[in-house]
Amino acid sequence: MDVELVSIGDELLLGFTIDTNAAFFAREAAALGIRVVRRSTVGDGAEQIAAGVREALDRTGAVITSGGLGPTADDLTKPSIAALFGRGMYRDEAIVDSLRARWKARGWPGELPAANTMQAMIPEGATILENRHGSAPGIWLEDARGRWVAMLPGVPREFRGMTQDTLLPRIAARGAAGRVIRSRTLRTTGIAESAIADALGPYAKDPAGVALAYLPGWEGVDLRLTVRDVDAVEADALLGAAAALVREKVGHWVYGEDDADLVALVLEALRARGMRIGVAESCTGGMLGMRLTAIPGSSDVVVGGLIAYDNAVKVAQLGVRESTLTAHGAVSEETAREMATGARARLGVEVAVSITGVAGPGGGTPEKPVGTFCVGVDVRGEVRSLRTSGVGDRHEVRQRATQAALNLVRKALEG
Ligand code: ATP
Ligand code: MG
Repeated sequence: MDVELVSIGDELLLGFTIDTNAAFFAREAAALGIRVVRRSTVGDGAEQIAAGVREALDRTGAVITSGGLGPTADDLTKPSIAALFGRGMYRDEAIVDSLRARWKARGWPGELPAANTMQAMIPEGATILENRHGSAPGIWLEDARGRWVAMLPGVPREFRGMTQDTLLPRIAARGAAGRVIRSRTLRTTGIAESAIADALGPYAKDPAGVALAYLPGWEGVDLRLTVRDVDAVEADALLGAAAALVREKVGHWVYGEDDADLVALVLEALRARGMRIGVAESCTGGMLGMRLTAIPGSSDVVVGGLIAYDNAVKVAQLGVRESTLTAHGAVSEETAREMATGARARLGVEVAVSITGVAGPGGGTPEKPVGTFCVGVDVRGEVRSLRTSGVGDRHEVRQRATQAALNLVRKALEG
């Protein structure tokens, strides 16, 4: 079943509020096979609301609005949509009573303000959608052709609560039962999205007939497989077949699925092998240590590390040779390897990992442009290193470097 969302509010257009309601609705709806085919945002004005909803109704015939149901003068959702349906408005005394009771129960002073009774104004012929999370009820309006609009409050807590306990069950009951939209995400790192597409070849677009989306970020490229409008068993079978095809081609770069976290995987791998880890960080200045220690319980495998930002610290504290720095520079695989080996010896650990790079915005050279970084790992004397480069601003380059370092540890542990 297809629906459209119309988010209402000047603050959304101005960019002061992010439309989290629409994202929430789409995610929840997908699980029930309800597909959001279009989203739009309109200002608070009555004409803007009416125009947005009219177009959505003409296209899709099933519309959910968010916002503008409150008691203030800028809350025009109900009257403008009622007018669109050619309906008048009446005051629902039962709602007024419940608003008064709510006011009293909260112990708020005086009588319910007159403005609040605005929330009891209901379009004729509407179905009232109970709001157990706030005061303004939701409204369901439907015309003779079965086209409908469901109006929900904009306050995120109320919108989310009503979506789950009232609106989605109602929409699902109208649509095809048992149909789902389901996704499975393979998380890759250390490979560019274009290289993944090349490696997938004929499966780059829709392996096993399943839609594939490439979602790049500093952690790597997530490959999201999605099936729609099938029953749950078929969905899992299709996703399983597609995931197997993708893994066959690019499994080397896949570190996990769905919400897998590379740090958690590395800590687990260390724990399983009875190994402890230390870090030596130059350009990331402690970011890798922060990530490793962000996970509760990491203290049994993470011992600590050194921020060896200045070359003098690399030499004095990690034992990096002056000659290595002179011959290859601080940002080199040679230096990264000596940093890792030095850290392993001095911290007395089985595994040490190092990062050195040019985070920018200054300091780049033609041979080592901004974004170049080298990572090293020493596992019980066996040393590996990698030189690569990451795009983005200073923060992003540093994030990418920590991810590359963690991935090198993962690879080294796997052997
Ligand atoms: P109220 O009774 O509070 O007036 P309402 O239904 O009129 O509720 P709005 O006035 O549109 O809702 O918004 C109320 C609050 O919710 C505001 O702080 C607004 O920033 C936030 N909000 C509105 N729409 C969204 C949205 N789509 N996503 C996230 N937050 C939103
Ligand atoms: Mg409001």
